[in-house]
Amino acid sequence: MSQDATHRLVVVGNGMVGQRLVEAVRERDVDRRWRITVLGEEPRPAYDRVALTSYLTGTSEEELCVVPDGCYDDGCVLHVGEAVASIDRHAKTVTTAAGRVVGYDALVLATGSSPFVPPVPGADLDGCFVYRTIDDLDAIRERAGVAGTGVVIGGGLLGLEAANALRSLGVDTHVVEFAPRLMPAQVDQGGGEMLRRKVEDLGLSVHTGTATERIEQLDGGRLRLVFADADPIEVGMVVFSAGIRPRDQLARDAGLDVGERGGIVVDDGCRTSDPAIWAVGECALAGGKIYGLVAPGYEMAEVAADRVVGGAAVFTECDTSAKLKLLGVDVASFGDAHGAAAGALEVVYADPVGGVYKKLVVTDDASTVLGGVLVGDASLYAALRTMVGRPLQDAPEQLLMAGPAASGLDDTAQVCSCQNVSAGAIRSAIGDEGCCDVASVKACTKAGTVCGSCVPLIKTLLAQSGVEASTALCEHFDLSRAELFDVIRATGIRTFSEIITRHGRGRGCDICKPAVASILASLGSGHILDGEQAALQDTNDRFLANIQRNGTYSVVPRVPGGELTPEKLIVIGEVARDFGLYTKITGGQRIDMFGARVDQLPAIWRRLVDAGFESGHAYGKALRTVKSCVGSTWCRFGVQDSTSLAIMLELRYRGLRSPHKIKAGVSGCARECAEARGKDFGVIASETGWNLYLGGNGGFTPRHAELFASDLGSDELVRLIDRFLMFYIRTADRLQRTSAWLEALNDEHGDGLGYLRRVIVDDELGICGDLDAAMYAHVDTYADEWAAVLEDEEKLSRFVSFVNAPDVPDPSIQFVTERDQIRPADQPADPVPIAGPTLEVMRR
Ligand SMILES: Cc1cc2nc3c(=O)[nH]c(=O)nc-3n(C[C@H](O)[C@H](O)[C@H](O)COP(=O)(O)OP(=O)(O)OC[C@H]3O[C@@H](n4cnc5c(N)ncnc54)[C@H](O)[C@@H]3O)c2cc1C
Ligand code: SF4
Repeated sequence: MSQDATHRLVVVGNGMVGQRLVEAVRERDVDRRWRITVLGEEPRPAYDRVALTSYLTGTSEEELCVVPDGCYDDGCVLHVGEAVASIDRHAKTVTTAAGRVVGYDALVLATGSSPFVPPVPGADLDGCFVYRTIDDLDAIRERAGVAGTGVVIGGGLLGLEAANALRSLGVDTHVVEFAPRLMPAQVDQGGGEMLRRKVEDLGLSVHTGTATERIEQLDGGRLRLVFADADPIEVGMVVFSAGIRPRDQLARDAGLDVGERGGIVVDDGCRTSDPAIWAVGECALAGGKIYGLVAPGYEMAEVAADRVVGGAAVFTECDTSAKLKLLGVDVASFGDAHGAAAGALEVVYADPVGGVYKKLVVTDDASTVLGGVLVGDASLYAALRTMVGRPLQDAPEQLLMAGPAASGLDDTAQVCSCQNVSAGAIRSAIGDEGCCDVASVKACTKAGTVCGSCVPLIKTLLAQSGVEASTALCEHFDLSRAELFDVIRATGIRTFSEIITRHGRGRGCDICKPAVASILASLGSGHILDGEQAALQDTNDRFLANIQRNGTYSVVPRVPGGELTPEKLIVIGEVARDFGLYTKITGGQRIDMFGARVDQLPAIWRRLVDAGFESGHAYGKALRTVKSCVGSTWCRFGVQDSTSLAIMLELRYRGLRSPHKIKAGVSGCARECAEARGKDFGVIASETGWNLYLGGNGGFTPRHAELFASDLGSDELVRLIDRFLMFYIRTADRLQRTSAWLEALNDEHGDGLGYLRRVIVDDELGICGDLDAAMYAHVDTYADEWAAVLEDEEKLSRFVSFVNAPDVPDPSIQFVTERDQIRPADQPADPVPIAGPTLEVMRR
């Protein structure tokens, strides 16, 4: 012990936060002026409570221990199994239940919380447990061996974790939740529904909106739960996991201020109403809030440690994002998950069939991320959480599907919220400290060492630094999209199961399935809804229509080049009138008809197909439109026939599946009325031919297309566009538009456009013949998808509102009239689904 240790610090409680406080004081107290005594009630040193459940599946006590070697020597002592019974604030001493008296100059209370057990008669019967400590788990495991069935009271984050633990112990488990949905604090109604399905798929029985009235003892030690509004259930054991209550009795008895509903009141320096006493972790009421998560506790520990040694650190409101570790069900919520901010917009992707629900909450001008909910696939949790409060770099739906680019994270963005580690700290660990893998980044920064949800983002930051330049499509494929394309093309494999068996692993995910579907479609592998391919598609593709905010669909017939005969115009009008659809002229020279129920789609298509219309592919990652002006046919300024060219190009590339949507434009002169330079490929007439522009984008990050070739004849123009499109389709990454693809070529080859010229004009790679042939094959085999569905009973059978009542339209779809047309009745602040069928089961 240091001779200079003149100050005495006593810490009550050796949980995760108390332990962090000790380490934080040791880090700051370099002169070893403080002698530290820690008194812990539990019979073992602090352990990782966040990972507690893994104790049931084999993680040992030693592995869970969070006390570093050598922490308790040299002036720092830990007494385990020794609860503090009282504090004498005048004498500045604490007395333990065993009678030990320890004096202090500074006292930190880190007594944590205890599980809340609702005042239900019978809650203290033999067979009732709580889920908080290693000892609790030992007792639960013993009972589970004979219980057969069990119930967890509480369907929140920890309740589900406890339920899964019971299930893994072989107990047939029920979950009872008072609120109308599971995890009411974290997820919204849509997420709760999805979660319920997922949890039930795991074999758990879920009872929501159910209040437990009493628990009765039955013969043989079994228990009966009686509910206010449901049939009773008989079980072998009950686990309460209905929230926490701060352990503030010691502080109350000592006369410290406590909150009305419990918790030791602390100021922004984590100091209690007694200036010599601090409180941290789950026992503390900071800013009127009890935090039930470890990250805010760690933050408090750092602040209190700083204050104890004379600093001025301040605790500010903390991130309460959470990710559930329930086996097989990913659930996460972060930031303003409920969209409580004024005017908040919610963008939702829902796929009940795939069991995925993702919601992003953004400001009313869609400029800033506020929060979100992820159910079924929380792989983007860490990346999206870091976006909270930051300007959107991509369209919200793009963020939901692919996540933000890690390069867009500025250094202050928090990557690991448990350990409060920023992107900058990780970059410096990689750049300055030479960390070259996740393990070394973890060791250096502590990021990723608690809940582990930020590990994917650490990997991305490593990759961004050039350390692990992985181009793997996702965790199921080590191949990039371009490599996968080559493999599928070369091997002739045409089913996802064979591809993943031979060239990947696992069962696939929302990243690789649509990517493979797109590749198969690009290679002309039959109708998009044929056999196994159907299950791989995004929802819009699965229903060959665009899903809208109220679960109805919009139908967009192809109008090549925007040219439409009066007869066809009348047909569209009649269809819209007869089916009561809302109509709008789109920015891409088509007529969009909104408000069609899924069961109406085939009848609408039938009328349109009979009149000579085809699917406009407004839903797919495919060629959308070739916009045109009237050109030399009508316009005084036109120098070429832009409309004829646009029609020819649109018909040539219709149905062409690609990594992202493709838009094009043709203008009849340099006045550019078709805005061709804002498109993936644009053509502008010159006096002697056509100028070709490539890589434009009018979307979220607008970019003008660049001039690729001038004064081309029509044949040469088409040949170059054929090759450009095929080369892009084969080599782009998933969801990469042509503009981003060209930027990537710039990064790789210095001059992307120059490289492209060498490939598709000079044939430097010797693949032009192959690209030409692929495009000819596409043109030769094109067939309209709507027409094909109408001829196939099996495919038609998908188009129903309810799987068990195919003839019943969905009664929940309601419209109101505005400006003489329908619009969804649920206009205000409802989520904006970007995908997701309403194939519910009708409640009879
Ligand atoms: C199963 C489970 C899973 C969790 N998962 C997550 C998660 O995924 N993410 C997350 O952020 N958080 C999670 N948590 C919550 C997280 O574990 C807590 O926020 C954190 O452990 C709180 O730390 P603490 O030190 O404040 O309290 P505790 O860990 O409860 O430690 C307090 C300690 O003080 C002792 N003590 C109390 N009174 C006295 C006394 N009078 N004398 C001496 N000792 C005393 C207690 O016995 C205890 O050991 C989870 C919790 C559980 C139970
Ligand atoms: S682009 Fe030129 S040809 Fe086309 S409408 Fe405009 S002015 Fe006329």
